Amino acid sequence: MTTIRFEKVSKSFGDYNAVQDLNLEIKDGEFMVFVGPSGCGKTTTLRMLAGLETPTYGRIYLDNDDVTLAAPGKRDVAMVFQSYALYPHMTVRKNLAFGPEVRGEPKAAIAKRVEQVSELVGLQSLLHRRPSELSGGQRQRVALGRAMIREPRIFLLDEPLSNLDAALRTHMRTEISELQRKLGVTTVYVTHDQVEAMTMGHRIAVFSHGRILQVDTPARLYGAPANKSVATFIGSPKMNILPARLAPGAGHVTVNCLGTVFTLPSLSLTSALPPEMIELGIRPDDIHWTKDAPSRCTEKMSGTVISLETTGSETFVIVDIQGVEVNSRFPSFVQIKIGDQVDLLFDRSDVHLFDATSGDSLR
Ligand code: ATP
Repeated sequence: MTTIRFEKVSKSFGDYNAVQDLNLEIKDGEFMVFVGPSGCGKTTTLRMLAGLETPTYGRIYLDNDDVTLAAPGKRDVAMVFQSYALYPHMTVRKNLAFGPEVRGEPKAAIAKRVEQVSELVGLQSLLHRRPSELSGGQRQRVALGRAMIREPRIFLLDEPLSNLDAALRTHMRTEISELQRKLGVTTVYVTHDQVEAMTMGHRIAVFSHGRILQVDTPARLYGAPANKSVATFIGSPKMNILPARLAPGAGHVTVNCLGTVFTLPSLSLTSALPPEMIELGIRPDDIHWTKDAPSRCTEKMSGTVISLETTGSETFVIVDIQGVEVNSRFPSFVQIKIGDQVDLLFDRSDVHLFDATSGDSLR
């Protein structure tokens, strides 16, 4: 039973601030994913949790133990790296047993534990092999097994699937999620892949430039992003961000986006008046082709098709509306060609509004 707490944690390398004023609580048994572009501070945060880096400022707690300055070996944390870090000259059995043997645990107990763990990660028939005789996915399972055999308080995984091909990565995502659910150990998983984050995490912390932009469930990150950066990072194809004007009314606001005018319920704003110039976000999946649109889609934008890309099951379409490119995804049977005039329909409740200056969500 382990909770993790970061309190005002910062880390600088020289005068470069890799992590800034990080506050985060991870619940007992939670699968937390750190996601964000390269260099945003995810790995540094994980390494501070493992004890491989010392914070420049702030405290880190495991339950109520302040571990900010504790040595890695004193934290009871197991870390799995992208590189697997297996011993090449040892068999799988020996790789699994090595840690407990070094700690002087009884031989019979170690043998039993190796059996249990190898069954959990599906390695029973491979215990006699060396790492060079295993596939990438099997090596990754040994690395996971080696972390599990210690029965640590928390698991830390740093991009563990990035050396695997796409099909195996998808398969291992499911395996790791299931293992974590079975074991119930608090887990922090670092990735730059938003699909991996969305499919695995109970909650996701989205990092950017050393800060956390939002911590939330996958559904809320997708449906209620706190700002434009999260909105455009999560979801593929990317959310459209379009220029718009906003006018307050009595109990509502009027939005004018590329000539389409509609009203929305009043915004819960921190400032008294909303900015006049805003940005409207709408996901390609929330934009529908006329004949395919649900009846709730009452708003319409019209423009010219400038690009079409068919995958077989669907067609990605770019429509020029008043000089602005709008991406949408149509069923592949739709008969359109470049140069056609088309209407795009959407439901006003699917739109996101952002402050054009700060990028903060206005809804
Ligand atoms: P990636 O996905 O590429 O691993 P990341 O989000 O995990 O990226 P970090 O590895 O945490 O990013 O690095 C954050 C920033 O801190 C980067 O700009 C990196 O160059 C810098 N940094 C990390 N470790 C050191 C170090 N030991 N010395 C100097 N700068 C470092």
